[in-house]
Amino acid sequence: MQTLINGLHHITAIAGDAQRNVDFYTDILGLRMVKKTINFDAPTVYHLYYGDETGSPGTIMTSFPHGKIPRGRKGTGQLTYTAFSIPTTSLSFWIDRLNDRRITFAGPYKRFNETYIRFDDFDGMGIELTATDNNNRTGWAGGSVAGEMAIRGFHAVTLNEANPDATIKLLTQSMEHTLIAEEAGRFRFGAGPRSAVNAVPGNFVDVQHSPGELRGHQGAGSVHHVAFSTDNHETQVTIREKLIDDGYMPTEILDRQYFKSIYFREPGGILFEIATNPPGFSVDEPIETLGQALKLPEWYEPRRAQIEAGLPVIDVKQPL
Ligand code: ZN
Repeated sequence: MQTLINGLHHITAIAGDAQRNVDFYTDILGLRMVKKTINFDAPTVYHLYYGDETGSPGTIMTSFPHGKIPRGRKGTGQLTYTAFSIPTTSLSFWIDRLNDRRITFAGPYKRFNETYIRFDDFDGMGIELTATDNNNRTGWAGGSVAGEMAIRGFHAVTLNEANPDATIKLLTQSMEHTLIAEEAGRFRFGAGPRSAVNAVPGNFVDVQHSPGELRGHQGAGSVHHVAFSTDNHETQVTIREKLIDDGYMPTEILDRQYFKSIYFREPGGILFEIATNPPGFSVDEPIETLGQALKLPEWYEPRRAQIEAGLPVIDVKQPL
């Protein structure tokens, strides 16, 4: 049987100041800016993408920096923490780095036999670094963090749910996820059916049962949606039909320039997307210079001068 969902694809957050967002993800976390474009639905706002060298699915953090907007609040019905994988040998490096940059963190803690630390980005968005040797991916070695220490991509996401059962049913019965571990009200799923679960970093979804917790609300520092990876147009059509058959309401397939997407809200309220792996970020600029120029879809090109004039100037610091 064909695999319909491979694991995580990208995570998109609402941010405040654009330059501070760039600084956090490139200069502090050491990710590569792989695309500088605009929110196709709101062209006065950037859409910034950070990831590994090519922006591989499962490494891509993206943001809509809105400038001065109120902060959101973490709570139920939200993706509260995005965990990135780091090599176990790099944990002390990251602790020193966060201390040097005066970024307060909690931990190290243990969960599912892995060590992690937890902190917020400049807008209050929840980040974890999880130390693991169970990761064959390479990090971006051309940025502000040496390759052997670099973030390898996503590890897991945490979905806070007041009533997790319906979300778990969606993941396991309609989205090919399998329960692989449970600890303190946290249910960990790996992508893939039970017979072929691919339980490696980047494929984990943690559903955190959070009874009594306030519902989250969206603002700067909130995740807007989480996207799962599917191979191609054919698998996207198939998973879309399956979701409809199972009673969910995915959108039509939308062209997002670097992938094609469907969106729907999971029962707990978090916006899910399923995105194709192709065409990827080299569709409109070479790998070597990804993220340097402002890229617009062709329907916005006639308005480029006006769009550029309305966006703040941002600058990716070059590594020393
Ligand atoms: Zn998306």
